[in-house]
Amino acid sequence: MPRTQVTTNNLEAFWMPFTANRQFKQAPRMLVAAEGMYYRSADGRKILDGTSGLWCCNAGHGRPKIVEAIARQAKELDYAPAFQMGHPKIFELAARLVTYMPPGLDHVFFTNSGSESVDTGLKIALAYQRAIGQGTRYRMVGRERGYHGVNFGGISVGGIGANRKQFGAGLLPGVMHIRHTHDAARNAFSRGNPEHGGVEFADDLERLVALADASTIAAVIIEPVAGSTGVLIPPKGYLERLRAICDKHGILLIFDEVITGFGRLGAPFAVDHFGVTPDIVLTAKGITNGVIPMGAAFVKKEIYDAFMNGPEHMIELFHGYTYSGSPVAAAAAIGTLDTYEEEGLLTRASELASYWEDAIHSLKGLPHVIDARNCGLVGAIELEPIAGQPTKRAFTAFLAAFEKNLLIRTTGDIIALSPPLIIQKSEIDVLFETLRGILKTLA
Ligand code: PLP
Repeated sequence: MPRTQVTTNNLEAFWMPFTANRQFKQAPRMLVAAEGMYYRSADGRKILDGTSGLWCCNAGHGRPKIVEAIARQAKELDYAPAFQMGHPKIFELAARLVTYMPPGLDHVFFTNSGSESVDTGLKIALAYQRAIGQGTRYRMVGRERGYHGVNFGGISVGGIGANRKQFGAGLLPGVMHIRHTHDAARNAFSRGNPEHGGVEFADDLERLVALADASTIAAVIIEPVAGSTGVLIPPKGYLERLRAICDKHGILLIFDEVITGFGRLGAPFAVDHFGVTPDIVLTAKGITNGVIPMGAAFVKKEIYDAFMNGPEHMIELFHGYTYSGSPVAAAAAIGTLDTYEEEGLLTRASELASYWEDAIHSLKGLPHVIDARNCGLVGAIELEPIAGQPTKRAFTAFLAAFEKNLLIRTTGDIIALSPPLIIQKSEIDVLFETLRGILKTLA
């Protein structure tokens, strides 16, 4: 069936997020079903999922434990008020989730998305500094090229120009940015963590401390591996150095693990993979395998305890969402953790990492490929932009991939890959053979 005839719906009313609406509506790319590693398109093709949906379906699609848990929960207790009331599943989930964190990161606040986790983390950081008598610490430090979702807190600490410029006048005051960690000249085609620049890039925080004084800085927020900007892997020693500088100056360190959490790097979280423990860890996406919206902010005991004073009948933190830890999301998360655990998925990426790495780097030398980088089951292939038409080359590759039954993601002129953690080596072969074919013919 030709693609233009696949839907009888009028496409006009829906303003699609982060989408070239006019282009899409002329030639819609509709997904109508999914199972395991594959989507099914409206014209009946099986599409290999090279992106875990949007970095979220880590266990693949249509997983029975998750689907059944949601159905059961919706029947038993569909919703319970999130404020001043509780339900057993969310306490069960919280107690289970904190066992994945390093000792001390043992409290969790629930949200409904990565963006909300980010705003929650920033608000907790500010409120904590105030609670311990450090109320002059009002500044947040983000990083150039960082992506922390789309709420005002997130775009303020975020460092992707296109996500900020339309809303420039509304950004949070007092935010500063350290430099990003990408150094194409020295680190192109690095396998895993790049060699160069770790200490040097982290020391950029000292520049901001010298400028603003540590007594004004509440927290630094970074993605341990930057995802949405095009997969930037931290150079060796970078995260350790950043941790040391934060400790020296009493600045909280926040890891945004919305992408790196739940097995993406080959360990349950980036904190395990890199052996660096921040004060706050933000998650979403893989927490429910992307099936029901949910996010979570993990905080250290000292942070939680700093709020637990004053009259006991008083609310300690004036923050929360109607759907914070809703019963159906909690059930979905428990079904997700069961699936991850039974199938060893939170460490499976470590078994596939070297095969994956070889596959990505085999694209070196193809036309327009100027970098390839990888970590765990994440990878990026950076293309030389067409002069005067940035993003077009990669977008053309994305469209061609979909025609060839492969879903990839592009950002700028970078192809980002993050398949479900259930992927087989034979499917990695298909993914890269398809990409190779496309890159060979790309103008
Ligand atoms: N933080 C990071 C690191 C992300 O990659 C994303 C989404 O890709 C977000 C936050 C925002 O998550 P959401 O789209 O669920 O709001």
